Amino acid sequence: MDIASNLKQVLAELPEGVRLVAVSKFHPAEAILEAYRAGQRIFGESKAQELQTKHEALPGDIEWHFIGHLQTNKVKYIAPYVALIHSIDSPHLLAEVDRQAAKAGRTVDCLLQVHIAREETKFGFSPDECRQYLASGEWQALQHVRLCGLMGMATNTDDMQQVRREFDGLAALFREVKAAWFPQAPWFKELSMGMSHDYHEAIAAGSTLVRVGSHIFGERNY
Ligand SMILES: *Cc1c(COP(=O)(O)O)cnc(C)c1O
Repeated sequence: MDIASNLKQVLAELPEGVRLVAVSKFHPAEAILEAYRAGQRIFGESKAQELQTKHEALPGDIEWHFIGHLQTNKVKYIAPYVALIHSIDSPHLLAEVDRQAAKAGRTVDCLLQVHIAREETKFGFSPDECRQYLASGEWQALQHVRLCGLMGMATNTDDMQQVRREFDGLAALFREVKAAWFPQAPWFKELSMGMSHDYHEAIAAGSTLVRVGSHIFGERNY
């Protein structure tokens, strides 16, 4: 397993305008450094504590993305440096990110996580909840977060037509809310979708950020 060559293989498949988030959760700092030396700068983590440890140990020009469920009491640890939170799954969480970003004297870029998969999950807005939240205008009062787009995870299935339908649905929702609420906001441009087993489908559906872990770093031991 050679991280640098896996990374190059994935990068070679990305069209212009699609960025790679190398998902390094549960992998040691040494593995991240291997990808870093091969030129990768964006890394994704899903636990605040783990991100904190890695952020302290690794080079300062890494762009850290948070991709997992974020508990509100952990926001304060990552707000000072996180580059993008993909996984805003409730209005309450976004408000807390705003509060902690204000304390840290910065603005934090965020994506709303939308639940598109068939599987039951506790996390994410349904498409209708996403529409309703944006229509509420609540987010417009938040001065220290910037909504940059949407994130979603497809059903974990080998039925790639099903996966593609779900990604197409999220892309359509993205275009709808962009037109309704962010027509003059060039920063609202991110569609975070696609993991190791489905990033080709995600790219075909219009993804701008693919989150690829095991395909680069190998299987996780958890
Ligand atoms: C773990 C994870 C990934 C990466 O998954 P792989 O199958 O290892 O590529 C992507 N997105 C989220 C939200 C994750 O939790």
